[in-house]
Amino acid sequence: AKRSGRNNFQFYDKQLDKIVQERLELENHLRKALDKEEFTLHYQPIIDLSTNKMSGVEALIRWEHPTFGMVPPNKFIPIAEETGLIVPIGEWVIRTACLQIKEWETNGFGQISVSINLSIRQFYQSNLINMMQSILNKTAINPRLLIVEITESMTMDVESATQILHELKNLGLTIAMDDFGTGYSSFSYLKTFPIDFLKIDQSFIRDIAINLSDENIATAILLMAHNLGLKVIAEGVELAEQLEVLKQHDCHKAQGYYFSKPLPVYELEQYLNN
Ligand code: C2E
Ligand code: CA
Ligand code: CA
Ligand code: CA
Repeated sequence: AKRSGRNNFQFYDKQLDKIVQERLELENHLRKALDKEEFTLHYQPIIDLSTNKMSGVEALIRWEHPTFGMVPPNKFIPIAEETGLIVPIGEWVIRTACLQIKEWETNGFGQISVSINLSIRQFYQSNLINMMQSILNKTAINPRLLIVEITESMTMDVESATQILHELKNLGLTIAMDDFGTGYSSFSYLKTFPIDFLKIDQSFIRDIAINLSDENIATAILLMAHNLGLKVIAEGVELAEQLEVLKQHDCHKAQGYYFSKPLPVYELEQYLNN
């Protein structure tokens, strides 16, 4: 019995070893991915529900590794955050998004807003505002077209968060609270944060289809947002029934597979031409 016990430990050791090895390997490749130009942005249409037209897109990063293939963001963003690599990667995302806004405008697609996801590391990075300012200057875009998505967890330190948010607003940027309803919400601070949009998390949108008749969290968030003068974007909309309920409750915008999955630039342009 003793012996098999020891073998068990060896088994777990090996398993753990393998996980640690894989993670180290991924981290090493992640360090080189920017230089090797392995990242791209995909863009998911966001639809204005009052016009049924696309008003903007959310930029979602993709990592195409030559041998690992497509690595999903849920797998590499946490590593990028722990290692600090998210700072240069995040800056690349912002610069690429701003250049894309400019390019669409130049090529006659009009003023398309682009939402980018900010990680907590970037939010509290001391040169965030200077970096943003410098990219805005270089690309000369209308800053309103860049939507910065933050999450509730970033606003736990209410005082610092309020200051950073005001600085971002002073640059002329638009701010959205992502995954709303999933964190410890500073519900009471929502009124004081300079936020333009709430994005209802997709878990609550899923809930609409199950509980069509019931009052649900999504409709409660819509009611509260209206009272606070905030606009709402519903994410993860997959079904016509969900869209119906959202429209009934005057939701401003929506995104999800019902309209389109995130698309590479070329396919998004085709989507716009159709
Ligand atoms: P998120 O910001 O909440 O992005 C929405 C996620 O939902 C995306 O997954 C999107 O592809 C997916 N999605 C969109 N519509 C639907 C739908 O109708 N149904 C379902 N089931 N899913 C839908 P993705 O692209 O895999 O990104 C996952 C997360 O990775 C993002 O969640 C975001 O937190 C993070 N992420 C992505 N790009 C970046 C980035 O550039 N920087 C940072 N810091 N995080 C990023
Ligand atoms: Ca987002
Ligand atoms: Ca989200
Ligand atoms: Ca999410």
